[in-house]
Amino acid sequence: MIKMKDVYKTYANGVTALNGINIDIDQGEFVYIVGPSGAGKSTFVKLMYREVKPSDGTMIINEIDINNMKEKKVPYLRRDIGVIYQDFKLLPKLSVYENIAFALEVIEESPRNIRKRVMDVLELVGLKNKARFIPDELSGGEQQRVSIARAIVNHPKVVIADEPTGNLDPETSWGIMRIFEEINAKGTTVIMATHSKEIVNTIKKRVIAVEDGLIVRDEQRGEYGYEV
Ligand code: ADP
Ligand code: ADP
Repeated sequence: MIKMKDVYKTYANGVTALNGINIDIDQGEFVYIVGPSGAGKSTFVKLMYREVKPSDGTMIINEIDINNMKEKKVPYLRRDIGVIYQDFKLLPKLSVYENIAFALEVIEESPRNIRKRVMDVLELVGLKNKARFIPDELSGGEQQRVSIARAIVNHPKVVIADEPTGNLDPETSWGIMRIFEEINAKGTTVIMATHSKEIVNTIKKRVIAVEDGLIVRDEQRGEYGYEV
């Protein structure tokens, strides 16, 4: 479902972040992206949701060749991709409920469907009783669960998380991982860039290691492979 062939990315300042990436990720896989700081992990995942565009190479996401994609089709691609950030990126003035509903309202769901889907997804992340809270009233782990709820409420085929536990304590991180495992068990592809040796070595999944803009390792049930 995600295919990259000879993908390069050089930023406007001349920094080459990716140096010829070749990868195939199937529907339903769970993949960790690991590597040192500055290796190109963020660029790699940002390409997948078209936050950045490749300088060269071929990228197919959900059977769409995104290099030749018209700008006006980008929202359709995004609909099938849920994105989760290290710093959550919730809207601070909106309630938990509204933060999640917003993702549906923009695609013109009926109010009744929105309510049902928001409450279902809040149930999945264990936050039904906090629907009226605003982000500031929640712990970091709870805010991250809201951002996961927002990312999955459209039932995307793939969830992309860039260091989702980077700002969370270890205990809270395991709770987040349990949710990712649950989403993945339902068939959603999960791609997660992470620096957590404990997580990668405990919950064994495919590991893709990036160094200097190249894939240097790609193993099923791999290890983190770096000292922290
Ligand atoms: P990682 O996520 O592994 O830390 P990044 O993909 O963020 O790696 O960065 C890879 C390289 O690209 C680094 O040298 C970084 O400084 C550079 N880089 C990242 N984003 C930009 C940008 N928007 N403009 C210029 N250079 C960037
Ligand atoms: P009930 O309908 O029995 O109150 P729900 O499971 O529907 O229970 O709602 C759980 C929580 O979500 C309640 O606190 C409810 O007030 C809140 N909630 C439901 N819909 C909305 C909404 N549109 N805006 C804000 N909060 C909502």
